[in-house]
Amino acid sequence: MISERVMNAATITSWMREIDVAVRADKDHLVQLDAAIGDGDHGTNMTRGFEAVVQALDADGDPPPGKLLILAGRTLVSTVGGASGPLWGSALRSGGRVLGESPTFDGNQLADVLAAALASVKDLGTAAVGDKTMVDALEPAVDTLRARLSDGVPLSQALDDAASAAESGMRATIPLQARKGRASYLGERSVGHQDPGATSTALIMRALQKAVASGS
Ligand code: ADP
Ligand code: MG
Repeated sequence: MISERVMNAATITSWMREIDVAVRADKDHLVQLDAAIGDGDHGTNMTRGFEAVVQALDADGDPPPGKLLILAGRTLVSTVGGASGPLWGSALRSGGRVLGESPTFDGNQLADVLAAALASVKDLGTAAVGDKTMVDALEPAVDTLRARLSDGVPLSQALDDAASAAESGMRATIPLQARKGRASYLGERSVGHQDPGATSTALIMRALQKAVASGS
């Protein structure tokens, strides 16, 4: 029997810090990707948003993990003007609501958090896999996490596989024509470029894998 890893508020804080570091390190790349098929602000949007999230979490006492996710989501909505702010904002708020007031959560609950986040992105943005958006990275990550956990794979490995699935989904956006968001205005000219939102989503999933792996 695999011992089930228990996570808590520190896991969420560590995840948000890892995202902050990752989007800042890849800021110029995200800007370039968005300049090719959008308006070039995705790297600055994500950097500004997650910098504010880390500041908000540091300032806010000792709330349970669900409340931290809700605070992170609210912070993104209020600091990021682009599509990614409301989308990730509602995703994190929906994910946080899944955890309620619980001080801890396990791998299956983490999968529930991510599934709620995905549902919220799809609800708000009405994008499906293949539309060349963040959904192309997030949905395979969520599906992979669930499938690997139900196969009995340890959480750290399941998250590694989920992050790899997000990275594959990200690369798979290159040949697609955008059907949602700003890139869709380009029609066929959006083909041949990697979607910026799918790229930052892959960073967010890799950050989660790192945050959980570094906790104990
Ligand atoms: P904006 O497009 O307003 O400048 P960003 O540049 O921050 O916002 O984010 C762009 C990313 O948002 C896209 O690369 C795409 O992944 C994602 N996106 C845009 N519209 C949608 C949508 N309707 N559903 C899901 N994701 C979307
Ligand atoms: Mg943009």
